[in-house]
Amino acid sequence: MTKLPKIYTVGDTTVTRVTEMVISGVPPEIYFPGTWDPSFLEANKDSFSEGLIDENSQLIVSIGTWVVKTPQHTILIDTATGNDKNLPLNPDLANLHLPYLERLQEAGVNPEEVDYVLLTHLHVDHVGWNTKLVDGKWVPTFPNAKYVFPIKEQEYYSSEASHNKENEANFNVYEESVLPIIEAGMTETIGPEGGNFLDIFTFIPTPGHSIGQMSIRLSSGDEEALFGADIMHHPFQVMRPDWNSMYCEFGDQARISRLWALEYIADRPIIYFSTHFPESSAGYVSRSDDSFNWHFI
Ligand SMILES: [Zn+2]
Repeated sequence: MTKLPKIYTVGDTTVTRVTEMVISGVPPEIYFPGTWDPSFLEANKDSFSEGLIDENSQLIVSIGTWVVKTPQHTILIDTATGNDKNLPLNPDLANLHLPYLERLQEAGVNPEEVDYVLLTHLHVDHVGWNTKLVDGKWVPTFPNAKYVFPIKEQEYYSSEASHNKENEANFNVYEESVLPIIEAGMTETIGPEGGNFLDIFTFIPTPGHSIGQMSIRLSSGDEEALFGADIMHHPFQVMRPDWNSMYCEFGDQARISRLWALEYIADRPIIYFSTHFPESSAGYVSRSDDSFNWHFI
């Protein structure tokens, strides 16, 4: 029997995780290039919870979508990797056949019911289910949705500048997963300064991981949550905000954005909804000595 997804409430809204995949066996020295400190595990073993590393002390991460339901709308935040994608330079994420849409259904969402798809940025593991392959053509998976994303991301990933060797993880992603929804006239963009969307959301520029990444704040009633996108990939970065992941494209800026988010939510009742943390992927941040700590909920 599948475990039913947890339902979080934030004011008048509910938030549910749909996990596309869980990846274990990730070598920390590769994931945090140049900064990983092997003594970290032993030194911190009492302050982090189960599920962060596997039996071989390798990292566990995940990829997924958050479903936000308001009294009026069904909203997805980021759309994971997608099936059948042609990613010749990223074979681990290519040509998947995962039951994501079935899991979405289990979380109470039919594709036709989705009103908005909010995208924090346009990397391979955040835009995949924007489209699905039907009779050899990429068509919008959510036929009645408006897809909303930062304009800076569109400008960059449609440009030659992004089609270079450093960006091979995202090769062909724009063409298969973003362009078809633009051509279908189903998109709306957020300007570089961010801003409010649908009264309850605020797009907040948190660049660095990618050129125009934005976090999304949810405020409903007097409650608040933050969808931090890829400010962090693993809870270890809560304790070590100076560690960038191998996927952070603009390292110095990524550290600034990470620290901003941690300072903003620490010791406040703001749920942090991550894209890539293992376990529930959701939790709170507290202050600890001169850094921060993570608590799953
Ligand atoms: Zn990501």
